[in-house]
Amino acid sequence: MDLSRFPRLSFAHLPTPLEPMENLTKKLGGPNLWIKRDDCTGLASGGNKTRKLEYLMADAVDKGADTIITQGATQSNHARQTVAIASRMGMECHILLEDRTGSKEKNYNYNGNVFLDLLFGGKLSKRPAGADMDAEMADLAEQLRREGRTPYIIPGGGSNEIGALGYVNAALELVEQAAAMNLRMDHVVHATGSTGTQAGLVTGLQGAGSAAHLLGIGVRAPRPKQEENVFKLAQKVCAHIGQPDLVKREHVVANCDYVGDGYGLPTDGMVEAVTMMARLEAILLDPVYSGKGMAGLIDLIRKGQFEKGENVVFIHTGGSVALFGYPHVFSFPDYRASVSQSAA
Ligand SMILES: *Cc1c(COP(=O)(O)O)cnc(C)c1O
Repeated sequence: MDLSRFPRLSFAHLPTPLEPMENLTKKLGGPNLWIKRDDCTGLASGGNKTRKLEYLMADAVDKGADTIITQGATQSNHARQTVAIASRMGMECHILLEDRTGSKEKNYNYNGNVFLDLLFGGKLSKRPAGADMDAEMADLAEQLRREGRTPYIIPGGGSNEIGALGYVNAALELVEQAAAMNLRMDHVVHATGSTGTQAGLVTGLQGAGSAAHLLGIGVRAPRPKQEENVFKLAQKVCAHIGQPDLVKREHVVANCDYVGDGYGLPTDGMVEAVTMMARLEAILLDPVYSGKGMAGLIDLIRKGQFEKGENVVFIHTGGSVALFGYPHVFSFPDYRASVSQSAA
């Protein structure tokens, strides 16, 4: 598979490491667990949107853009990575934040990714939950055009056939890395949301002829809708790279049993997964995506879904900055008691 004809900028730190998780493997007593560190893509504290932005920002430059518009949830990691690179490239960046959770927590609304969006120089504004965010972006683009600017709209999560090329590439990188380590990948697991990551990965894995089973753990939509959306985008990606029938419907598998009450709303499994990964592997997950993805993986291992001796690679898609939007979800009672005692 050759993606070299597609315009791409280079600002991610690649390849990201592929490492064993020995302590977590031992603790769970199931398959051998590995982690692909896409939380370490470098730009603005990293994450999976950076690979997509290498292609999207190249397209923006080709189209003569001087302004970027995108959207996401309040604690969007995509927004943070987009603002950071847009600012570095001398472009203005408008971010529409959808209030998907309704949280009134101060940290959720001002800290974590929001704080960094502002620090990187983003122009932020909120929209209510359920707003038609694509229409909102189109309206803003129209207004900016009237002001003489040339805006470029990046869809939520950077998930279109251009952005997803970043994850076609990531799959090729992963297959090559595993081969060099003599690692037979049986399963690849990751959190799936706006679908670009899974659509790119499934295309890249098929393109590389990998036998690994890909599993997306959903963070928002129910399974039929999530799989349908991933497949739709995967078909567009395949058409874009000129291999239209590469991905079949049955290659797209999502498990959406770990969403809990909704997108961005904490679950006990997420808190357990984030805490275990911090203490066993010294790795920071996030509360919205990788924490729920890992919660799903841990639960499936406990249920015996994987064989001992199989190799499972978890793709860490980043997002730890969002932990600072959710500190209230983690309770450390002994320390709290000691603080109130020392204040008394
Ligand atoms: C956006 C995001 C995802 C999901 O990727 P999609 O391409 O939107 O499906 C997973 N993890 C983190 C940390 C993210 O920010």
